[in-house]
Amino acid sequence: MTGDSRMNTLTTKGHAHREQILLVEDEQDLAKLVMLNLKAMDYEVIHASTLQQAIQVIETKRIDLILLDRMLPDGDGIMLCQQLRQQQQPLPIMLLTAKDTEADIVLGLEAGSDDYLVKPFSVLELRARVKALLRRGIVQQAQIDEVAYDGLSINPSTRQVTAFDCPLELTAREFDLLLFLAKHPQQVFSRNQLLEAVWGYSYEGYEHTVNSHINRLRNKLAQNADHPELVKTVWGVGYKFSPPEALAH
Ligand code: CA
Repeated sequence: MTGDSRMNTLTTKGHAHREQILLVEDEQDLAKLVMLNLKAMDYEVIHASTLQQAIQVIETKRIDLILLDRMLPDGDGIMLCQQLRQQQQPLPIMLLTAKDTEADIVLGLEAGSDDYLVKPFSVLELRARVKALLRRGIVQQAQIDEVAYDGLSINPSTRQVTAFDCPLELTAREFDLLLFLAKHPQQVFSRNQLLEAVWGYSYEGYEHTVNSHINRLRNKLAQNADHPELVKTVWGVGYKFSPPEALAH
């Protein structure tokens, strides 16, 4: 099946391939509400109440997105998030959490989650975020052109990145961020513009989400010694991508 026909299948009403969302949440009332909303959006939802159940589902089913509570009977959802990232699982993860201090949010992002919703959240916001996370995946399948610079190649169809001859393991969101920046070299983007372009929404106060992802992306890009800095901070404005060719020998 080509990328194009898959696109058609996905965009046709009543399509064969319905996206599957794994909801990991032990509060039964909240789980019911979330499931009701996601099903109304035509997604398949699988519900797990514990980390153990969630792991079983991930091992046996094709999942397109995980909505992950943090305080679960058998542990912190962040543990599962870290475990999946260690296994190089790129699948999008959104944390649902009552912990709303900035330190908690940063911890969640450091663990490799792509997004988070602080409880209590509005159903409309949940729907918008889920849509944005899943839409990204579809849009990316359509953009198959490789972005390549001297020393850096980004392949949107395989979602592989090679920097200075080393393959990089990026999360879904880190990949999207790098791809977006690399497609617009030398263009400066504010944190809000990046939120809108990469996350698909923009809210006041979420700018540190961008900072946190940029920092992780830089750390991964910096695993290769002697490389020029690719993602530059433009003080007071935001970030820009500087292609390595100017500095490469
Ligand atoms: Ca809980």
